[in-house]
Amino acid sequence: MSFRFDQTRAQIARMTTAWCRPADSVRLIAVSKQHSADKVADLARLGQRDFAENYLQEGLEKITQVNHLLPKAIADSLCWHFIGHVQSRKCRLLAERFDWVHSVDSIKVADKLHQYRSGDPINVLIQLNLQQEQQKSGVSAQDLLTLAKHILELPNLRLRGLMTVAKLENDFAKQRAAFGRCRELFDTLNLQGFNIDHLSMGMSATLEAAIAEGSTMVRLGTALFGPRPGKTHMQHVQ
Ligand SMILES: *Cc1c(COP(=O)(O)O)cnc(C)c1O
Repeated sequence: MSFRFDQTRAQIARMTTAWCRPADSVRLIAVSKQHSADKVADLARLGQRDFAENYLQEGLEKITQVNHLLPKAIADSLCWHFIGHVQSRKCRLLAERFDWVHSVDSIKVADKLHQYRSGDPINVLIQLNLQQEQQKSGVSAQDLLTLAKHILELPNLRLRGLMTVAKLENDFAKQRAAFGRCRELFDTLNLQGFNIDHLSMGMSATLEAAIAEGSTMVRLGTALFGPRPGKTHMQHVQ
């Protein structure tokens, strides 16, 4: 096994302390896209519980495969996060199979998830696109409040917070500025009584800036699994 599981957890713990955050306030979400079900199962046996996928079909297949590879008690305790662009015609499968959707960015998608969810409410985050990047999903700061209020009206959805994907920049201060704006909007919503508790920010290249700015969920692929097989460095663009 070639995971950097212990190292990654130690790194998160170190940064959490260094930025004066409470211990265990940052949850590691293992981004398993393009990695095999075997690897996911191995990591689950080591104790990892949160996994994220960004393509629905790949995610659904992997969930089924992983469930077959693991003892039922472990399989049932896994938490599956969807972090990719949500197409409204795919919402039924998302609502049925995932526990969290980090990338809700329209009223239409929220309504569809609500329509198809039964049982426990699905946990959702609103994806923000604060740097107005055309190729990325997400709502602007102006549209955030309308969407957040709408989600509160949907009992099958539980609004938990905000998610953002920062531009890939090597400049730590710029990364922090982008995440800092997301945190400000998070604080504003809480001042208005929304009672949300999660900020999904930070990938392998932006981990420390995200922790510095209050991230509670870091989405790590490369740092944990190594490079994704057979793709160029541009594959993070959605
Ligand atoms: C792929 C992906 C990640 C993980 O990226 P790494 O750079 O491999 O850590 C995190 N978030 C989203 C939305 C992704 O698509």
